[in-house]
Amino acid sequence: MATSSSISSSSADVAVPRCHCGMRSPMRTTWRCDYPGRRFYGCAACGGPNSCTFFECFDPVPPKRFVDVIRNLLEANESLSTNNHNMMMTNSELTAALRKTTKKAEELAADVDGMVASNVVLSEDLTTCVVSRRRLRSALVAVLPALIACVWLRVVNN
Ligand SMILES: [Zn+2]
Repeated sequence: MATSSSISSSSADVAVPRCHCGMRSPMRTTWRCDYPGRRFYGCAACGGPNSCTFFECFDPVPPKRFVDVIRNLLEANESLSTNNHNMMMTNSELTAALRKTTKKAEELAADVDGMVASNVVLSEDLTTCVVSRRRLRSALVAVLPALIACVWLRVVNN
């Protein structure tokens, strides 16, 4: 929302009046009064502790239609500002949620990396076991005929 009044420069500087303080009065535009957008001259120290009460309208009283249009535009602007503020809040919340999710995803990725490393170790252990089993089987196959022969000889001798 616009401030209650704002200073503007214009070609009217040539005929700038002086306030009761003797200073050149800046032209201002008021937004919170019966005629929003109307320009006026006021004290250069307006709002300060030493400001005087000088006031002189620059613009004539505008038609009611203009005042209504300006008021509607000010209300629309206020509504847009509120919506913009809300969207900024939502954006801020979404950004925070995204940061949180990204951090969680990074933690999960680290866990997956750890599991992959463990899987590699387990795969190597499994390969070693398979090799050992094959060697044991080969050794057993090599010994088995002799073992059978021993058993057979023992049976025959008895
Ligand atoms: Zn003054």
